[in-house]
Amino acid sequence: MPTSAQKQAAQQRRTKIIATLGPASNSPEMVNKVLKNGVDVVRLNLSHGDHAQHRSTFALVRKAAIELGRHVAILMDLCGPKIRTGRFADGAITLKARQRVVVTTRDVLGEEGLIPSQYRQLHRDVKPDERILLDDGNLELAIERVHAREIHCRVISGGILRDHKGMNLPGSRLSVSAFTDKDREDAALAAELGADFLALSFVRHADDILTLQSHLNALHSPIPIIAKIEKPEAVENIEAILSHCYGIMIARGDLGIELPAERVPLIQRDLIETARRHNKPVIVATQMLESMISNPSPTRAEVNDVATAALAGTDAVMLSGESANGKYPLRAITTMDKIVREMESYQQSHELHAEQLKGQVDDTDPQRRAIARAVLGMTDHLDIQAIIIPTHSGLTASIIAAARPTSPCVGVSDNEQVSRRLALHWGIVPVYMSKKAQSSNWRILSETIANKHGLIRTNNTVLLVSGFNEDPRLSEPVIKILHLGQDK
Ligand code: PGA
Ligand code: MN
Repeated sequence: MPTSAQKQAAQQRRTKIIATLGPASNSPEMVNKVLKNGVDVVRLNLSHGDHAQHRSTFALVRKAAIELGRHVAILMDLCGPKIRTGRFADGAITLKARQRVVVTTRDVLGEEGLIPSQYRQLHRDVKPDERILLDDGNLELAIERVHAREIHCRVISGGILRDHKGMNLPGSRLSVSAFTDKDREDAALAAELGADFLALSFVRHADDILTLQSHLNALHSPIPIIAKIEKPEAVENIEAILSHCYGIMIARGDLGIELPAERVPLIQRDLIETARRHNKPVIVATQMLESMISNPSPTRAEVNDVATAALAGTDAVMLSGESANGKYPLRAITTMDKIVREMESYQQSHELHAEQLKGQVDDTDPQRRAIARAVLGMTDHLDIQAIIIPTHSGLTASIIAAARPTSPCVGVSDNEQVSRRLALHWGIVPVYMSKKAQSSNWRILSETIANKHGLIRTNNTVLLVSGFNEDPRLSEPVIKILHLGQDK
């Protein structure tokens, strides 16, 4: 039987929802509705739209969040070196299986048998026998030979190829930087607007993150970086990448083209576990409810996909086209919400949240990690309504949440940006409270939060975790058990 604390805790969704905003959802009314439907993080995709559009959407999200009294993070997503075809004289060509075609890096309009590439160095990076995938992997070419700027290919799978479709080169080592000139301009916009997260596409190794980091440092804007894992090299280098980024996104769209799609499910499972081991947030993205772009309800397989990600303990699930340019953006959000809650209530009643990580965990912060394990043990044995965590930088709350305790973690920060960032993390209820308002009396602090946020009712027990200092030698961490609002 679930205890009363578990029942109440079940009302709070632990897995966070990210919605990409676009033409279907970036009007003032829609932004309001998107936030009201419980979206925790909004994604602005810099592959589409111009700066004026992103500025206006950004302002609408900030305004709506303030009006609704919610901490909503904004993630701006750099398009990175996505290689695309150029344009065709007639807008499209048809490729037939076994046909010979030429991919050229010359600046020309395409025609039957000739495909221009926007990436001008492509001919230097590819070799015979490698493959070129077009339009999300729907069309496939095998490279036969390279002559000057012309790449001679044989069509393996044909179809219609339109202007500006994506090109993926799974076997080639591309010399293009993960951070392009367009990304440089887009990162400057993110810095100017004060985005809460910046995602970097097609990361291959930790150096790609350091390049963006130093660019942001030069702009005096240390926006936390989310590394998009969509290249085989990134999967191989995941440990080093996780040590240098704020969190990762499992970008299954491109990942499933760069690698055989059947490898993605287990990679997803491993990446979620590896990210948790590093105490870093992880996002599962792309095609989660894809059919809802045009249909009002998802396929059974899509429901299963969202469920699997939630059960594996991902921090967040993400909507792309479903919320950005689909016919049912709000239904996609509520559908996701319902699936995730169903999984979580099962986990609550079967006490599955606190599943321990197997293997080695990140030991860069042994004190916080030890406290997180102790909290996990206590929430297993006691009927705990909430874990209240004063967290200046957000670090203590994020490490405790990475252990996936059964009770919600209330992260109390005196920094609004930190409160917004915490919105991405599994199980954290972000609360902002100025330093002045934060009583040093823990009981008073906990009761203020309880009253203000209605999270904790009468006769409840909460844990309060406090006492960490940026300098570990000055830390005096304490876990306190507090009984609140007792009836006299
Ligand atoms: P994209 O990234 O939407 O920017 O391509 C996500 C993915 O590839 O899955
Ligand atoms: Mn991608």
